[in-house]
Amino acid sequence: MSAKTFEQLKLSPWIVRQLKAVGINKPTPIQENCIPHVLEGKDVIGVAKTGSGKTLAFALPILHDLAQEPYGIFAIIITPTRELAYQIKESFAVIGKSMNLRQCVVVGGLEMIEQGQELARRPHIVIATPGRLYDHLNSCNTFHFRRMKYLVLDEADKLLGGPYDDEMKGIFAAVPENKQTLLFSATMTDVLDKVKAVAKKEVFLWMEPSV
Ligand code: ADP
Ligand code: MG
Repeated sequence: MSAKTFEQLKLSPWIVRQLKAVGINKPTPIQENCIPHVLEGKDVIGVAKTGSGKTLAFALPILHDLAQEPYGIFAIIITPTRELAYQIKESFAVIGKSMNLRQCVVVGGLEMIEQGQELARRPHIVIATPGRLYDHLNSCNTFHFRRMKYLVLDEADKLLGGPYDDEMKGIFAAVPENKQTLLFSATMTDVLDKVKAVAKKEVFLWMEPSV
């Protein structure tokens, strides 16, 4: 565990309270090292093994920021599987319990039209698998991502440079240049080159020492 507390990472007191309420008292190393840089507005690449707390490394600073200036679609989280999408939604819901948080899960197997309507209601957080989000971008004109602030690639190594390449290119083309890109991965397998190509701003890279 890390030397710092969540307070020292400069997260809002309401987030720290909610973390404590669910028994999370100290940041994991990836949270300690990445959250301050996310809060500073940098693009961040975080690499650490499965189970190291990568979800809250992006969810906490996004919720902190969202509470200060909520508007339209604020963050888009891309993840390779449906199961991960629902897990991420749950993490946001648990910590964002006191906010009126609107989330939309965009994955295969759900009704396209209903999902499109949900997107049009401008959720704060969109959590999507690449294929289904891409389908919506191509078929729907009831929503847009032009003002979103954060693009997160969870399990980035699985999203980039592989079978989702066309979908990811389409998604990058639909989001603003000045977004903040956060990439998390469990492996280093040539993820660096792939992610550096998509992160445009000053990039902070943190890698777990054992990776
Ligand atoms: P990863 O994405 O790195 O595989 P997760 O974000 O899914 O890991 O987190 C794994 C587990 O650790 C989850 O059950 C989560 O609630 C828990 N967890 C996350 N951060 C902390 C923390 N700071 N202290 C204790 N448990 C945590
Ligand atoms: Mg994860």
